Amino acid sequence: MSIPSRHFDALIIGAGGAGLNAALQLASADVRVAVVSKVFPTRSHTVAAQGGVNAALANVLPDNWHWHMFDTVKGSDYLGDQDAIEFMCREAIPTVYELEHAGVPFSRLDNGKIYQRAFGGQSQDFGGDQAARTCAAADRTGHAILHTLYQQNIRARTHFFDEFFALDLVRDKDGVISGALVLEIETGEPLLIEAKATLLATGGCGQVFRTTSNAHINTGDGCAMALRAGIPLMDMEFYQFHPTGIAGKGMLITEGVRGEGGFLVNKDGERFMERYAPRAKDLASRDVVSRSIVTEVKEGRGAGENGDYILLKLDHLGAEVIDKRLPGIRESSRIFAGADPIREPIPVFPTAHYAMGGIPTDRFGRVVVPVGSGSEQVVAGLYAAGECACASVHGANRLGGNSLLDILVFGRLAGKDIIDFVRENPYQRSVDPASLDEAMSRLTRWDQKGGGVPAHQLRADFRKCMEDHAGVFRTEEVMAEGYQRLCELRDQFKDARLTDHSKVFNTARIEALELQNLIDVGLSIAVSALHRKESRGAHSRPDYPNRDDVHWMKHSLYYREADRMDYKPVRTKPLTVESFPPKERVY
Ligand SMILES: Cc1cc2nc3c(=O)[nH]c(=O)nc-3n(C[C@H](O)[C@H](O)[C@H](O)COP(=O)(O)OP(=O)(O)OC[C@H]3O[C@@H](n4cnc5c(N)ncnc54)[C@H](O)[C@@H]3O)c2cc1C
Repeated sequence: MSIPSRHFDALIIGAGGAGLNAALQLASADVRVAVVSKVFPTRSHTVAAQGGVNAALANVLPDNWHWHMFDTVKGSDYLGDQDAIEFMCREAIPTVYELEHAGVPFSRLDNGKIYQRAFGGQSQDFGGDQAARTCAAADRTGHAILHTLYQQNIRARTHFFDEFFALDLVRDKDGVISGALVLEIETGEPLLIEAKATLLATGGCGQVFRTTSNAHINTGDGCAMALRAGIPLMDMEFYQFHPTGIAGKGMLITEGVRGEGGFLVNKDGERFMERYAPRAKDLASRDVVSRSIVTEVKEGRGAGENGDYILLKLDHLGAEVIDKRLPGIRESSRIFAGADPIREPIPVFPTAHYAMGGIPTDRFGRVVVPVGSGSEQVVAGLYAAGECACASVHGANRLGGNSLLDILVFGRLAGKDIIDFVRENPYQRSVDPASLDEAMSRLTRWDQKGGGVPAHQLRADFRKCMEDHAGVFRTEEVMAEGYQRLCELRDQFKDARLTDHSKVFNTARIEALELQNLIDVGLSIAVSALHRKESRGAHSRPDYPNRDDVHWMKHSLYYREADRMDYKPVRTKPLTVESFPPKERVY
């Protein structure tokens, strides 16, 4: 079968903040760049980011990037690479000004400067008083950023393939990544996009869990493509549960609510965070607050008929502040929880939110893999940025406001590096037909009717199993049982079937393709978690309650083949300042 093809210098898979900021660098430098997105670009999940983006601008309270760096290293439970963290915190300041100049309508202070709010885990002076570092456009910061970046890309003439689904990476005869096979969703027809460099910017994988703040499209496709290309995923056991999802539904209520002065109470009206984090209270870091909420509920202090949630109170802020600073939250709460926060508290419970781990990269977005005896190698022509990547700035726990920062800083840097790469490698490599056939087989597999479980049923079972066995608290027993069940579901996938075979509006087929990705990525989380025998950041094991720096101060690497694990050292040396040595983490 002959498959139509298109050629570009660079291919970017994903049109969220990471993909669009990379594309903007490339298009502005006259590099021929294509951006593929399975949804219209401005529907990427970045659009849903509420609270804001961190940068030590010191507009509201004293601040500097070194304090930001300290908080990020501490927040990561010392697993983040300190060179990458230093780089990100320094770059934060020019990055936010660049966005401001590109047209992002940030909220303003009376003196005209960018408005900044307090977020969890932020401090002045290396662990002192609360800082206010999160630059916000009301509670719709991601919306403002994504739309601005999209408009700038249109101006720079970036070539968009909207509503095209990337199936798999393809290689040349030497094994160099040379583009991707994609599917036009509307027609169901495949298209080969050949490129000298390919950037994965496919975002998160929150759909791996049943209750999640993530959009339906966050299915970990880029991570799964990397796994299938033999690339390991790093630190996947560290999955963040955001403390305040709408109870039973999962939609996010931003940490900005607590930053503006909202707080959590149990069924007795007690501000229980004072017991768990005496100093930072409701603005302790997310892993700490999530564990506290789950503990309150487990110990019988949950609110509601079934005692299965906690209350987020903000009525004392007054209608004016809520409508000015948190209008989207008021709307979400009214629609999804039936509670108007001007009068009554919002019922909340932790919700799956953010993958700290992902495709291992260096500071320039280049994908790096270990090649034995402690050394590493760049995968020629392959880049990753955004939530699907792991430059290791979040370690074991991400701070709120640091992800928008991560996607913007590293998306931009990846774009800049690709410009150099395509100039140094001006020739297009030809795709190996065997590699193309393999990618095509992912698609043609669904042409057979099959007799097994319907794919949509398997998707629901898989997500429930992940939620039950890889949640906020994890013990050996619970995880081992979960792993077995996940392996069974992986086996059942082999002859899963579609319920709807129509090619036009082929959503059933797309969901089945996504399911394969969910299974691969879900297993990377489950297996990495089962192996790490300590508690660190978001990975919390009652059977190993302490952090163990002697044995576990290392990054994990999961390989799809035989569910194999490997490890590599944490980079504790920053670029220009002294290291922050591991300390007990208290808030
Ligand atoms: C509700 C919510 C609120 C948040 N609030 C904040 C906040 O206030 N501050 C903060 O710092 N972080 C926040 N985060 C986290 C942050 O928004 C995300 O981590 C970040 O936006 C991810 O950006 P991205 O560019 O990596 O991916 P995304 O924005 O998720 O974009 C992924 C892109 O990849 C494309 N794609 C994926 N798979 C395929 C495929 N197979 N084929 C083709 N295209 C594909 C999608 O179409 C999309 O264009 C929030 C997250 C959520 C869910």
